[in-house]
Amino acid sequence: MKELNTLTIKTARAGLDKKEFTSVELTQACLNRIKERNPELNAFITVCEKEALEEARAADKIITSGKALALTGIPFAVKDAICTAGVRSTASAKILDNYTPPFNATVIQKIREQGGVLIGKNNCDAFGHGASNENSMYGAVKNPHDLTKVSGGSSGGSAVAVADHMCIFAIGEDTGGSIRQPASFCGVVGLRPSYGRNSRFGIMPMASSLDTVGPFTKTVEDMAIVMDIIAGQDSLDATTVPDTVPEYSKTLNKKSKIRIGIPKEYFAFAELNKEIKTVIEEKINSLKKQSYEIVDVSLPYTKYATAVYYIVVPSEDSSNLARMDGIRYGARKQEGNLFELYAKTRDLGFPEEVKRRILIGTYALSAGYYDAYYKKAQQVRTLIKNDFDEVFKKVDVLVTPTSPFTAFNIGEKSNDPLAMYLADVMLIPAAVSGVPAISVPGGKDKNGLPIGIQVIGPRMGEEQVLQIAKQIEDSLQKQTFIC
Ligand code: GLN
Repeated sequence: MKELNTLTIKTARAGLDKKEFTSVELTQACLNRIKERNPELNAFITVCEKEALEEARAADKIITSGKALALTGIPFAVKDAICTAGVRSTASAKILDNYTPPFNATVIQKIREQGGVLIGKNNCDAFGHGASNENSMYGAVKNPHDLTKVSGGSSGGSAVAVADHMCIFAIGEDTGGSIRQPASFCGVVGLRPSYGRNSRFGIMPMASSLDTVGPFTKTVEDMAIVMDIIAGQDSLDATTVPDTVPEYSKTLNKKSKIRIGIPKEYFAFAELNKEIKTVIEEKINSLKKQSYEIVDVSLPYTKYATAVYYIVVPSEDSSNLARMDGIRYGARKQEGNLFELYAKTRDLGFPEEVKRRILIGTYALSAGYYDAYYKKAQQVRTLIKNDFDEVFKKVDVLVTPTSPFTAFNIGEKSNDPLAMYLADVMLIPAAVSGVPAISVPGGKDKNGLPIGIQVIGPRMGEEQVLQIAKQIEDSLQKQTFIC
């Protein structure tokens, strides 16, 4: 039999229900993998060994009694910037080093209610700021396909935990690409849902008008299973929408008449690696052969998206992170008067990149500059969103690369914030527009590094995004892109 930790949600559920193995065995297999690999990969900040095994024992009793729910006994991991009741949640910043939330984020609560076993908390870029996981105050996360490469970020630890089979699935957060980019660098499936589809309650806020929470899974089928559980309106997050949530797993294999748009701007970036371009073009051809209609489209405002993002996000950041003052939460540097205490605590508790965002955001929002920067950026944001609205009158989904390149070297961009920001060029337009997008493995480059393909849909169009992602996955003819 395959190693238990390499199973998917679907195969683990079947095996548990048929009593081929127990949840304790499955959980132990994941814990063993963590023990073996985490010292090198650094994907976990906290491992809940004792608690996970206790939960697994309880799950086995439920399974024996025939009352198993969708996730009963299945181990999962969570980005450390998402609150987990009774389990330390640091956001990978020392300012929250000792913070243990008394409550679960809504998505975590829903997974727990379906029986998911929390195995640990994943390293990430501090408060979600970064595209390589090098901005963590707990050290960088390494790519399991090549230890000299970055995992991608900011939810790098979660992508690695799934790719390296340290858990069966994981939950991450995507403000401007933080689920899709590490998913593409590590060879797993990662979904950024529509803004308003999944509750943000209990996610440590970065930029509230862009933050979303979504899963990392080994297959598109597993993605649909998790989305069936976590999606939907939440009274604790007023930005969630009342729209009915489709049953994604039921409609996944439906071969709807989906028109696929190919936005030319995404293929015109100078940085786009040739091998990635070829892989995407091959996939587009294979979709064409399956009689999907392929349409060339244009999103002309794409080129402004990164500039808009780096005004809007730091602005919201500077306001959201003001609550981290050493008084209400986490670590405190008790020194001098109250102002000195705030300053010292924030100086020691945030990494450079977080400080940089707070400075830029405070500047962009200040009197006299607000109109020139923040207001202007929001106006252009509307134009970018309008581009998507127009294009989705003609097509149902868009297919693009997830990233212009595969995983880069550790240290390659860490001293060049602008180069790091540009890593997200293909991810930011969907994020500023609030539309859903998935990254699905599409192949490997000549060095064996995974290549991700992005499928973008209209707002609340996760259903067709998942369907096309499934077709792409199936066309790989069972080649596996996980370690
Ligand atoms: N790399 C982007 C940033 O640093 C994305 C972050 C995210 O999605 N959390 O802002």
